[in-house]
Amino acid sequence: MNLQIIGHGIAGALLAEIAGQNGIRVSVRTDGSPSSSRVAAGLFTPVTGQRLGLSWRASDALPEAQRFYPDLERRLGIKFFHPLPTLRVFTCAKQRRDWEQKPKADCVHPADPNARPLRAPWGAVRIDGGGWVNLPALLDGLEQRRKSRNEWGQIPNPDITVQAIGHQAARDPLWKDLGWRNAHGDVLTVKIPGCPTDFIYSFDKFLLPLGQDRFRLGATYHWDLDDPTPRPDGRAELEAGLKNVLTLPFEVLDHQAGIRPVAVARVPVIGPHPEAPEQWIFNGFGSKGVLYTPWLAQRLVAHWQTQRPLPKETQSLRRIQRQRDRAKRQSTQQI
Ligand SMILES: Cc1cc2nc3c(=O)[nH]c(=O)nc-3n(C[C@H](O)[C@H](O)[C@H](O)COP(=O)(O)OP(=O)(O)OC[C@H]3O[C@@H](n4cnc5c(N)ncnc54)[C@H](O)[C@@H]3O)c2cc1C
Repeated sequence: MNLQIIGHGIAGALLAEIAGQNGIRVSVRTDGSPSSSRVAAGLFTPVTGQRLGLSWRASDALPEAQRFYPDLERRLGIKFFHPLPTLRVFTCAKQRRDWEQKPKADCVHPADPNARPLRAPWGAVRIDGGGWVNLPALLDGLEQRRKSRNEWGQIPNPDITVQAIGHQAARDPLWKDLGWRNAHGDVLTVKIPGCPTDFIYSFDKFLLPLGQDRFRLGATYHWDLDDPTPRPDGRAELEAGLKNVLTLPFEVLDHQAGIRPVAVARVPVIGPHPEAPEQWIFNGFGSKGVLYTPWLAQRLVAHWQTQRPLPKETQSLRRIQRQRDRAKRQSTQQI
């Protein structure tokens, strides 16, 4: 099979690598437009939301991420995978209550935040099993690999073209009808001398240790924005969030922003287009690209090679049909 992948964010890059590992002839092309993978903090964790429940299919996706990234580090000879627990600081009484009342995920344990430079009157928990991936390093390594193998650029007559074009899918005539709710996000790099680096800190925002007193501070959510320019109000929101919990002074070194590709169903979307069956999509990873792309890229390649069905919730044909049905219902109601 000849596979053309369009886009080299985390989605296109991992799909190309995994397809290549499985004997598929692959080539990647990109137009160089902004990639949210290049500004993402690269965090992954098994839990989600204020109640710290397990993410959709985390028990499939997390073990695959924990296996895949260290294996890829060895293959590429570069370091980008950083397993690290998260210290989740509750920022109000309700958050703590919600967590106490809900059945707890096995990876979440009570923790004492007091030895740290934090204001944490409602306490904290430790979340195991997560960490972060240095995505620019990973993407640079994979781009070099594709180029050195002549797997970069347009190929004639591919059997399948996979669009892994991130938030741009919302404007693409083929894929816009899937329904998108993209989310603009700001992220800062800050310097905090003396702040301990043995945890990722989470307090509605996150603070991720990068080394040499530098930390990544993120992230904001502004829904339905399509311009990845950094927003001053985003920076102000992040600084205020950090001041709320951190008792140490900090200095802002850098400000970046990107657009998360979020499909309305809030689950990644994979598969062919009903009217153009050689055109496929691998997209909609929202704020969880690092967690889901290794597992779902494996599942997509297995689907091509052994006809194993894709997870039902991700299937593009069902998702497009559902959106079309919804649009039809709405237009009938308006008549
Ligand atoms: C501030 C912020 C923080 C985030 N933090 C995290 C985090 O901690 N953990 C996490 O898992 N996720 C995080 N995310 C989300 C993460 O960025 C996405 O899940 C992921 O990057 C999506 O990857 P992608 O490959 O689908 O899209 P992208 O990375 O946007 O890549 C799209 C690719 O397609 C190319 N392209 C676009 N249009 C075309 C076209 N027409 N023709 C050719 N090429 C095209 C682009 O150049 C690019 O190469 C964050 C996002 C933001 C904005």
